Amino acid sequence: MTRIIDGKAMAAQIRAEMKEEVALLAQRGIVPGLAVVLVGDDPASHVYVRNKKKACEEVGIRSFSHELPANTTEGALLELIDELNADPAVDGVLVQMPLPKGIDARKVLDRILPDKDADGFHPCNVGLMALGTPRARPCTPWGVMEMLRREGIDPAGKIAVVVGRSDIVGKPAALMLLLAHATPIICHSRTPNLEELVGMGDIVVAATGKPRMIRGSWLKPGAVVIDVGINRLPDGTLCGDVHYEEALARGVAAITPVPGGVGPMTIAMLLKNTLAAAGRK
Ligand code: NDP
Repeated sequence: MTRIIDGKAMAAQIRAEMKEEVALLAQRGIVPGLAVVLVGDDPASHVYVRNKKKACEEVGIRSFSHELPANTTEGALLELIDELNADPAVDGVLVQMPLPKGIDARKVLDRILPDKDADGFHPCNVGLMALGTPRARPCTPWGVMEMLRREGIDPAGKIAVVVGRSDIVGKPAALMLLLAHATPIICHSRTPNLEELVGMGDIVVAATGKPRMIRGSWLKPGAVVIDVGINRLPDGTLCGDVHYEEALARGVAAITPVPGGVGPMTIAMLLKNTLAAAGRK
C-alpha cells in the first residue's frame, strides 16, 4: 500500500510548533518580521504571496507587504532592499520570483543581507549549506528533507535521483541529500538515459516543471517519490511532474500529492528561516 505523504497536515504541525517558538521570542520582546516584496501583476505570484502572508499571521510573524508596479526600475527595487536590510523590525526579506524583464534577479537577491535572506538564495547561505554548516536554507528542498525526516525516511545509504538542476530546487536538493549521506544522481534536460537512472532511485525528487513527465513504469517499485512540480493543466487543475496514478499503480512506497505535498512545506520552511533569523538577534 502506497503511503500518501500529507504535506498540508505536516506543514500545519510545523506552524503549530513555530507558534510556540514565537511565544517564547515574545517573552524576550522579539516579534519576528518578514518583508514580502512583489513586483508586477503575475496572478500566480499574487496567490503565493497571499498564502505566505496568511501563514505568517497564523504563526504570529509580522508581515510587511511591498507591492510594486511592473514598471519598477532595478534601482528603485535595490533601494527598497537597502531600506529593508536596515529596518530592525524586519528579520527576513523575500522577493517573489519571477521579476519583470529588465530587472536582474541575481543582483536583487544578492543585495539582501545574508542574515535576512528568508529564501536562502544568497551566495553566502548557499556556500554555508554546501559546507554542511547551514544558516538560511532554500525553502523548497529544505521542505523536502523535512518531509523525509518526519516520515522516518532516512536518505543515508540510499540512491536519490533528483530530476532538475535549478538553483532553487534541484541543485540544493541534491546537495542536501548528499549531506544526509544519500548517493545523489542529478538529471536534467540533457541527461540521455533518464528513464534508466530514475529507475535506480530509492528516492526520486522530481522538479522539472513538465507535467506528469515521469511515468510510473520508470519508477522502482518501493521507491519514495517526492514530487516538487506544480503545473497547471489546460482544464485548470494542478498536477505534478510525476504521473501520480501510474506511480500508485507501480507500487511506490510513498508519494507526495500535488497539490498538498511539497507546496505547503515550502511556506513552512520560509517561516522557519525568518524565525531563526529573529532568534539570532
Ligand atoms: P526550472 O525551470 O528552473 O528547472 C527545471 C529543471 O528541470 C531544469 O534543470 C531542467 O533541465 C530540468 N528539465 C526540464 N525538462 C526536463 C526533461 N524533459 N528531462 C529532464 N530534466 C528536465 O524549474 P524549478 O526548479 O524552479 O521548478 C521545478 C518545478 O517545481 C516547477 O513545476 C515549479 O513550479 C515547481 N516548484 C514548486 C515549488 C513548491 O513549493 N512546491 C517551489 C519551486 C518550484 P536544464 O537545466 O537542462 O534546463
